[in-house]
Amino acid sequence: MIYNTSEELATRLDSEDPLVRYRSEFHLPLQSNGTPYIYLCGNSLGLQPKSTEAAIKQELSDWQKLGVEGHFHAKNPWLPYHEFLTQAMAKVVGAKPEEVVVMNTLTVNLHLMMISFYQPTTSRNKILIESDAFPSDRYATESQIKMRGFDPETSLLELKPRAGEVCLREEDIEATIEEYGDEIALIMLGNTNYYTGQYYDIHKITKWGHRKGCRVGFDCAHGAGNIHLQLHDSGCDFAVWCNYKYLNAGPGGMGGAFVHERHHHDKTLDRLTGWWGHNKETRFKMRDGFDPIPTTEAWQLSNPPIMAMASVWASLKIFDEVGMPSLREKAIKLTSYLEYLVNTLGEKVINIVTPSDVNQRGSQLSIQMKNANKSLYDYITQQGVIADWREPDVIRVAPVALYNSYTDVYNFYKILKEGIEANTSI
Ligand SMILES: *Cc1c(COP(=O)(O)O)cnc(C)c1O
Repeated sequence: MIYNTSEELATRLDSEDPLVRYRSEFHLPLQSNGTPYIYLCGNSLGLQPKSTEAAIKQELSDWQKLGVEGHFHAKNPWLPYHEFLTQAMAKVVGAKPEEVVVMNTLTVNLHLMMISFYQPTTSRNKILIESDAFPSDRYATESQIKMRGFDPETSLLELKPRAGEVCLREEDIEATIEEYGDEIALIMLGNTNYYTGQYYDIHKITKWGHRKGCRVGFDCAHGAGNIHLQLHDSGCDFAVWCNYKYLNAGPGGMGGAFVHERHHHDKTLDRLTGWWGHNKETRFKMRDGFDPIPTTEAWQLSNPPIMAMASVWASLKIFDEVGMPSLREKAIKLTSYLEYLVNTLGEKVINIVTPSDVNQRGSQLSIQMKNANKSLYDYITQQGVIADWREPDVIRVAPVALYNSYTDVYNFYKILKEGIEANTSI
């Protein structure tokens, strides 16, 4: 595709966009003058599908009318409710339905997974993470290390970019696993880095980790609903994600977990248990010893919050209809168009730190503003852009294939350009 900086091109790309109608299925936040914001923050909090309200109201209404009977007689009975989401969730992350479950929130799920898959010994007790891992992931891994009687100073191993670089190089990830693999109990990486937007190849990392006898898990917070993940085929041991970023489940919405099927019958795994992970046939007898469901459901603890599940389900229905392949196809185009436009501003003023290789990124671009300060970001915000500023000088933007248009991207570029030109400090 050959791009140019004309507004006509944005209009044409929108008119040719096969997913264009999905924009109207979302609530776009409005400015005080009634026009929608240019919302480029779906990597942080996805927008609300218009269908969400009715989905939650359905459950409120069934609760009003049925009380406890809703477990069996609600339109969508609450007892098996989580099962209604499984098929669509599995499709989004490229897994078998038995391998995924919607439950809890991300960091909780990460802990549940580490209880099972971080089994340190005196000779193999390290967890490998990214040096700029999301803070919650760092706290979670550190606390797991301490709980098992080890010291994060020595047991937390960090993958650092080379001096003067921001992204990790694949060959360096491989070399670190090769060098320290015998001491690594668990490799736990964000599969798409929240800061740089860099996507790490989960297939290769899993292969390198397993070759050295490490367990491998991924935090897919920025991957789920963004990258066309193939969790099952990657062979990784587990993955966790939240559903409120690209998956539009709403603030604090429920997360997801994947456990590869090869672990489903392993009764020797350590696990925190609760009644919702117990064999469904005998769950209500409440007498038997714990009998894990031979699927990822075995990691469920409690009966789930139905209103929160309804919200995830409403969004998953849209993903199910569109399918990740078409979403990804548009995302690549939309992000490449954004990259083209931003790069025309010149390397003296901007530097996109996200890899330029489309196979190493999703929808997000992290744009370093050289010599700029937050006033530039404040300016674009005033002009109706919702993006994200990371100190000291990075603007993160994510055009989301489901509801962002090429015109959104164009208007963002125009406002950014005006902001740069108006700012005499550059
Ligand atoms: C968003 C995000 C989280 C958030 O964790 P919650 O438990 O959902 O609050 C954690 N890790 C990463 C990498 C994230 O991007």
